[in-house]
Formats: sequence, structure tokens, C-alpha cells
Amino acid sequence: MNLILFGPPGAGKGTQSALLIERLNIQQISTGDLFRAAIKNKTELGTKAKEFLDAGKLVPDSITNGLVEEILRKLNGKRFVLDGFPRNVDQAAALEKLLETLHLKIDKTLFLEVPMELLLNRLAGRRVCKNCGTTYHVQAKPPHNAGVCDVCDGEVLQRPDDKEEVIRTRLEAYDKSTRPLKDYYKAAGQFIEIDGTGSTDAVFERMTKAMQVKC
Ligand code: AMP
Repeated sequence: MNLILFGPPGAGKGTQSALLIERLNIQQISTGDLFRAAIKNKTELGTKAKEFLDAGKLVPDSITNGLVEEILRKLNGKRFVLDGFPRNVDQAAALEKLLETLHLKIDKTLFLEVPMELLLNRLAGRRVCKNCGTTYHVQAKPPHNAGVCDVCDGEVLQRPDDKEEVIRTRLEAYDKSTRPLKDYYKAAGQFIEIDGTGSTDAVFERMTKAMQVKC
């Protein structure tokens, strides 16, 4: 099964796709993670993307589409979940063309909906291990020792784009560019809206039930 998972920042796309890749044995393609890794490794892509991530703005389509194309071309038949791509209607149209060229198709498009107040709380309280990427929350899921990852002892930090002023820009970018994708994918069919509130397990169960898959 090939999937698209989208929704506002803080909806839990990363958390839910981590479960999907584990239980369905598919590959995660997270443009956000790829950009962050490129920035960390100081690659050419990282240099180009950094200013946009730091500001909470979308990376230009010419860069993002090329990155996704490169990965989709190397899949070798492996099933995948696109997490955070597409993020606007132009990217969705580019993806459609690319999938056609590569003889691939999307089976389901999942949209995670979470009310604004909860998004703000999740984003502002989110902390991430610098080393292994495990996600925490200052109130809901703090690490056992403050600032230290339970899994790998790495440093637990706030993502630079989870700072309050950047969160606002990201949510604006979402409203302007990504939210219109709902109508785009509703019209395309195989669109499923999932209530993204509640525990990780509850959301995952809703998702798999709606997709009619057993995990
Ligand atoms: P995320 O981890 O999905 O919240 O993405 C973090 C940041 O990466 C976003 O705020 C954008 O700056 C950038 N980004 C991720 N995916 C895309 C995309 N499909 N198009 C443009 N920028 C993206």
C-alpha cells in the first residue's frame, strides 16, 4: 500500500508514519526529516533549505520536488508513505505526473485533523533527541532525566522551528498552501480524514481501521 499522510504541523504525521513503517513494512519519505538531515550534514541541499526551515516557510517546489523524485526513483518496488509531501497543490500536481511516469499509484490519502489550540500546545511543548530523533513533550511525555534522551542518552532539545514566532509562520503556511490540498484529494478519491486527537495508539487504531488494514 502506498500512502500520503498530511495535516497541519503538530498533527502527529511523523509519529504515525513511524508506526506505519514498523507495522506495514513500508518506507517513510519525510521531506522534513530529509531537509533536517541535509542541514545537519551541511550538504548542498541543506544549505539551500536551511533559511526556509529556520523561518518556518516552505522550501521552494523546485528543490522539494527534485528531492522526492530522487527517492521515488530508487524505491525498487518498496511500498511507501509520503509524510509532509505534497504540501501545496503544485507539488501534488507534480507528484501526480511523476507517479504516472514511474508507474506508481497512491492507494490512500490520509489527512490528520487536530484543532488549532492543541496544535499550538503540541508544537510549543515538543522536544526532540538530537541524536536518535525520539520525540518528547514537556508536559505530556518528558524524558526521565531533564534534557537527556531515555533511549540513547542524547541531548533533548527544542527544534528551532518549534519556537513560538516560527510556529506562527508554519501554521500560516499550512493554512495558505497545505489546507487547500484537502479539497484536491477529496476530489481525487481515496481520501480519509482522521481525528488526530487523543493518544498515539488511539489515532493509529483509527487510521488502520479507516484503511481497513490489520497491523
Ligand atoms: P515537517 O517536519 O514536516 O514539519 O517540516 C519541517 C519544515 O521542512 C517545514 O516547515 C518546511 O520548511 C520544510 N518542508 C517539509 N516538507 C516540505 C514540503 N513538502 N515542501 C516545502 N517545504 C517542506
